[in-house]
Amino acid sequence: MDEKFKRLRPSWDEYFIQLADTVANRATCDRGRSGCVITKDKQILVTGYVGSPRGLEHCDDVGHLFKKVIHEDGSITQHCVRTVHAEQNAITQAARRGIALEGATLYCRMTPCRTCAMLIINCGIERVVCEKKYHAGAESEAMFRQVGLELTYMSEEVQQYSGQKLENDDLFKDRD
Ligand SMILES: [Zn+2]
Ligand SMILES: [Zn+2]
Repeated sequence: MDEKFKRLRPSWDEYFIQLADTVANRATCDRGRSGCVITKDKQILVTGYVGSPRGLEHCDDVGHLFKKVIHEDGSITQHCVRTVHAEQNAITQAARRGIALEGATLYCRMTPCRTCAMLIINCGIERVVCEKKYHAGAESEAMFRQVGLELTYMSEEVQQYSGQKLENDDLFKDRD
């Protein structure tokens, strides 16, 4: 094979991460337009993207639904809770279609949140590949480590988005 062509060919991880990015284009909340692809034996089982539950209004149409979380150190973060996360939507798609995820690999944009991480563990997913790091992903990383789930980052970069961590006064500044 021609050397030049060979170098252009993405690895399996790069290929599925790129597909997860394409899936993310269908997301309906701009707080985190992420996508997810779950594979087994190098084949796609299911996909998912951030969006409201079926039949309910989307953030892109009616605005976000924020809840704030006060952490032990006094810091406050705000999260849009209108949507089902990309990882959760991929898992629910598997549930709808009766597809076992045991032994599968999950591809997503950044370290899954705590809830997604717990679901990923209980689905029997054995490997998670993230494009970037989530700034508050330490808890999920620790849980994956404890259960022996393999976590791979394509980049050490931390995903940036608006309103990651806010002081009281700034809490709703970036609200639409
Ligand atoms: Zn939203
Ligand atoms: Zn999540």
